[in-house]
Amino acid sequence: MKTLEGKVAVVTGGARGIGRAICEALSEAGAKVVVADLSLAEAEETARAIEGMAVSMDVTRFDDLASNMQNVADAMGGIDILVNNAGIFNMASLDKVTADDYRRQYDVNVGGTIFACQAAVPHIRKRGGGTIINFSSQAGRRGEPNITLYCSTKAAVISVTQSLALELADDNIRVNAIAPGVVDTPMWDVVDAQFAQYENKPLGQKKREVGEAVPLGRMGAPRDIADPVVFLASDAARYITAQTLNVDGGNWMS
Ligand code: NAD
Repeated sequence: MKTLEGKVAVVTGGARGIGRAICEALSEAGAKVVVADLSLAEAEETARAIEGMAVSMDVTRFDDLASNMQNVADAMGGIDILVNNAGIFNMASLDKVTADDYRRQYDVNVGGTIFACQAAVPHIRKRGGGTIINFSSQAGRRGEPNITLYCSTKAAVISVTQSLALELADDNIRVNAIAPGVVDTPMWDVVDAQFAQYENKPLGQKKREVGEAVPLGRMGAPRDIADPVVFLASDAARYITAQTLNVDGGNWMS
């Protein structure tokens, strides 16, 4: 069923991993999709596969986001849906945390979410309302050793989602988040390699362990996360706002 026919969706970090699956799922649901990513070449490849539009967008260039979104809105005739999927992960024990890493992870995961919303909301308002879906994580639900920065950025996304949902409710803009568990993407190869160092494990072992520990018995696939994004973006979720939906095979209960 084409639940998103006629809608325009912007997906940050849409070139690969969960973002690419979101672009595919939104497109199958009838939306016109804008694949916004750091890497224009990768974004173009994803956009070609779904007959979407690719744009180069670095969500940490806060001052450029308004003109980025204006260009998108001009080219597509407006914006109805924003998916703030772009995110980065890095592990560091307290003695190894650096100011640069702090700024980088907060700029992408938190600042990128807030300022992309700021840039897109005027366009969503012009359409009489729409939806925003942010990306938290199960790591935002509870802290983990050696992951202070990433976990805290993802907890912040839950809070940002709640505040913006209340602020934008009168504009008929619903704001929700998704908290994925462990999902097999290029990011998890980075996570696995960092755990291999910290926990002295062979490459691939942490990935196997976290998959086996999921109540549903496996790591998530990108599409497992993308389908709930389509639901939250659709009219079927018209009375849902300010929520963070766990999509994690049962890892976290709320
Ligand atoms: P990924 O690393 O595979 O892909 C991330 C995408 O974001 C890439 O295309 C990258 O180029 C883009 N990106 C990075 N920095 C950017 C920037 N400054 N501006 C624009 N684009 C940028 O990651 P993924 O696993 O697909 O994760 C997607 C989202 O889901 C992230 O927010 C991540 O934190 C979250 N998440 C992932 C998992 C998991 O297990 N993979 C679990 C929980 C939450």
